[in-house]
Amino acid sequence: MKPLIMEAMKEVLDTAQEMARQGLVAGTSGNCSARLPDTDLVVITPTSLEYGLMLSEDMCVLNMDGETVEGRYSPSIELNMHLAVYNSRPEVGGIVHTHQSMATAVAVAGKDIPPILEEQVFSLYGAIELAEYAPPGSPELADNTVAALGNRNACLLAHHGVVAIGKRLRDALLNAEIVERTATVYLMSHLIGGPRILPFMETD
Ligand SMILES: [Zn+2]
Repeated sequence: MKPLIMEAMKEVLDTAQEMARQGLVAGTSGNCSARLPDTDLVVITPTSLEYGLMLSEDMCVLNMDGETVEGRYSPSIELNMHLAVYNSRPEVGGIVHTHQSMATAVAVAGKDIPPILEEQVFSLYGAIELAEYAPPGSPELADNTVAALGNRNACLLAHHGVVAIGKRLRDALLNAEIVERTATVYLMSHLIGGPRILPFMETD
């Protein structure tokens, strides 16, 4: 196996385990992937395997048609969502999908998070919009995710969780952390009158 692929498998494993350590996912929920630069290959976490038990060689390597190139396990059921995002955003090299609590609280309320924090706008490029509900693993969820992301770096999934993306996988994980901080601040601000939009993001 090529060293670049092995490096990407290790990076995907490390990120998946870091997601679990930070409490962004629990059990076997969530997933993450990296696209190998200058190839049509994607490395993604396997389905139904606990993060603590995963090894680097358990990661799944696929081409952009979703065909397995390396790996003994089936890929995450959200593979179609990852491929749809990579297809629509050529600059994206990493994707994390989490079930993080604060952001999911906003997602179950059926709300977007408006642009309220500087770090949110600088890293995620604006509002964190809500993707309409569709069952996990469905083509509709892939389409709704691409639509809610637009040209931004994160979105909420109704009744489900979060997708965060970035140029590299480590950027995607950092963006998921920024989503959680933004969602926490957004929810807390409702205790004292609700958030105000960042002045330079106001549209009228
Ligand atoms: Zn999920």
